[in-house]
Amino acid sequence: MLIVPLIFVTLVTGITSMDDLSKMRRIGFKTFCIYLVTTAIAVAIGLAFGVVFEPGSGVALSNTAAVVAKKAPPLIDTFLALITTNPVESLAKGDILQIIFFAIFLGISISMAGEKGKPVAAFFESFSEIMFKMTEIVISFAPIGVFGLMAWVSATYGIDVLVSLAKVIACVYIACIVHMAFTMGIGISLIAKLNPIKFFKGIISAQTVAFTTTSSSGTLPVTTSNVIHNLGVSKPIASFVLPLGATINMDGTAIYQGICAVFVAQAFGIDLSFANYLTIILTATLASIGTAGVPGAGLIMLSLVLTSVNLPLEGIAIIAGIDRILDMARTTVNITGDAMTAVIVAKGEGELNEKIYNQDTIE
Ligand code: ASP
Repeated sequence: MLIVPLIFVTLVTGITSMDDLSKMRRIGFKTFCIYLVTTAIAVAIGLAFGVVFEPGSGVALSNTAAVVAKKAPPLIDTFLALITTNPVESLAKGDILQIIFFAIFLGISISMAGEKGKPVAAFFESFSEIMFKMTEIVISFAPIGVFGLMAWVSATYGIDVLVSLAKVIACVYIACIVHMAFTMGIGISLIAKLNPIKFFKGIISAQTVAFTTTSSSGTLPVTTSNVIHNLGVSKPIASFVLPLGATINMDGTAIYQGICAVFVAQAFGIDLSFANYLTIILTATLASIGTAGVPGAGLIMLSLVLTSVNLPLEGIAIIAGIDRILDMARTTVNITGDAMTAVIVAKGEGELNEKIYNQDTIE
């Protein structure tokens, strides 16, 4: 209910409230660079964990869950599909990438229209304030949803499933924690020169919602609210960086794809060469960009990574049995990466309110 209107109106406002187009270009460039670099680091961490801890050694293939893997769409289609033929249809279907493309284009056009565009810019600004209010109301019910989802996960995944693939689960979870603590901790403390503890405290409710819903897009309203109210990022920056991040920046998914690729190779007794590892870093980075911020999307894109180095797609069936558990960790990392990027970009642009960032109370 919230995602489509929230992304659309806040992104348009994010663009129109940037006073000049060169600033927007600069912010867009910075955002994209941080997204790419952190994602590549994430895959590398995933691969390293896979190589060192060998989650695939000793996995009996008879454990295979009988799930048929869906085919991933070719990457080029993802790029071509960015441009909508009918924006109203994209909004109705909830096609996030198309909505983002159209919102950015519309925002730029409103700015370029100058005086004549001002009333529409004001309309969107007012509309986004209303959407933020609506978000706040919905968020106040989040604890009930989180409780329900956690109960469902524990009831659905019995101990048996967890034990047989415990090594993969442990690898993904620990690698996710390492990436958050080190890559993101360093990003916040060394690049933004801020206290990382305050960062993680400020984003905790969004992390909880991401962990239970396994959807970056679904968590977007909470992420946006946390980043603005707890971390002091300005609304224009948050409205630009976060919807984009919820759709294309997936560090957790990249870690998972790195580990799963190594896991499948080990489980099937296939040796990976150095060139194979580089190919995995490249394809997993691209695949994570093409992954939608919805539950289970990373599993579908995993076939792209496996195919790129000729690993058997049957491996996906094994992973599918525990995918929800892995999705919980990776989605949490995904939204944390978006929030970190928003903080770094805001700090660099002088649009971070450090009083709010350093406050002791959080929402
Ligand atoms: N569920 C993840 C997300 O929404 C995507 C994935 O499946 O990796 O961020």
